Amino acid sequence: MTLLALKGVESGYGPMQVLWGIDLAVNAGETVILLGANSAGKTTLLRTIIGLLPCTGGTITFDGEPVGALPPDQRIRRGIAFMSELGVFPGLTIEENIRLGGYFLSAAEVRRRSARLYDLFPALAGKRRDLASSLSGGQRKMLGIAKVLVSEPKLLLMDEPSSGLAPVFVKQVVDVLKTAITGGMTLLIAEQNVAFLPLADRGYLIDGGRVRLSGTRAELEASDAVHEAYFGL
Ligand code: ATP
Repeated sequence: MTLLALKGVESGYGPMQVLWGIDLAVNAGETVILLGANSAGKTTLLRTIIGLLPCTGGTITFDGEPVGALPPDQRIRRGIAFMSELGVFPGLTIEENIRLGGYFLSAAEVRRRSARLYDLFPALAGKRRDLASSLSGGQRKMLGIAKVLVSEPKLLLMDEPSSGLAPVFVKQVVDVLKTAITGGMTLLIAEQNVAFLPLADRGYLIDGGRVRLSGTRAELEASDAVHEAYFGL
């Protein structure tokens, strides 16, 4: 089943158009990766899907309904979550950050879901009342993921989850995502780090705000264009 479908999507920053007619689909249960060099338009695409940037052309359909004109909070309520590179509020505690991620849920429901999340992120469990600013870079990223997972989104958009992380933490993030994917999570990830490629079922190579090619993970791995943009070869 197609969960997210983009047809001819255009977007940008005021008069500066960045995306030019993007066609893209994510099926329920799939992990799809967005590849592309710096400034290709990956972040712009994710921000347009969640509604932080206006969709100035084309259509965005989620779960069978057009969402391209809805404000971000209504897209979040329909089940789309966005994890930006920044992710967490350093001046709030771990618990408060997670509660914010589930702001539209009852306190009891947040507690129930938090208990499951602390099982998945044991490093956070003992630090519930500590400020997020006291966490290491890797732990902050884990908190950023916990904060979006608490809403149990139908689709999780992730912008460069590896950014600023040492390789050992990148591996931890990949392992946590693997667990979430096994649990049925649908993911659209913009990533430059090759460690994330094995998670993907399919992917798109974005170049100059356009889809240059799309295919299965194996097709992308075999593509010269992907090697050029992704592996820097
Ligand atoms: P990166 O890996 O560097 O984040 P990206 O593929 O995510 O790359 P985008 O951040 O989407 O690329 O940038 C696409 C284009 O939009 C670039 O030309 C960039 O300069 C421009 N751009 C990004 N953010 C803004 C902004 N806030 N205002 C104006 N232009 C922007």
